[in-house]
Amino acid sequence: MKWPAWFNWTDRPQPAPAVSATQCPKCSREMIRLEKFTMSGRDMRTYRCEQCGEEHVVDFGVALWQAMSDARETDK
Ligand SMILES: [Zn+2]
Repeated sequence: MKWPAWFNWTDRPQPAPAVSATQCPKCSREMIRLEKFTMSGRDMRTYRCEQCGEEHVVDFGVALWQAMSDARETDK
């Protein structure tokens, strides 16, 4: 998998989501990011909602480093 030279992750048009991914799914309060690191290959981040006292894992999709790793694999 190769990306064209003009491809830039940060320049991708990002449609504004109706609901923030970092908002609590229950009460819609903005959650606090917890410093947890997962090596699952996906960009999973844990947020804590002070209102509900619950932790919610937000999946931001395949982590960038994993995508890069996959790209190298297919280049062989
Ligand atoms: Zn909540």
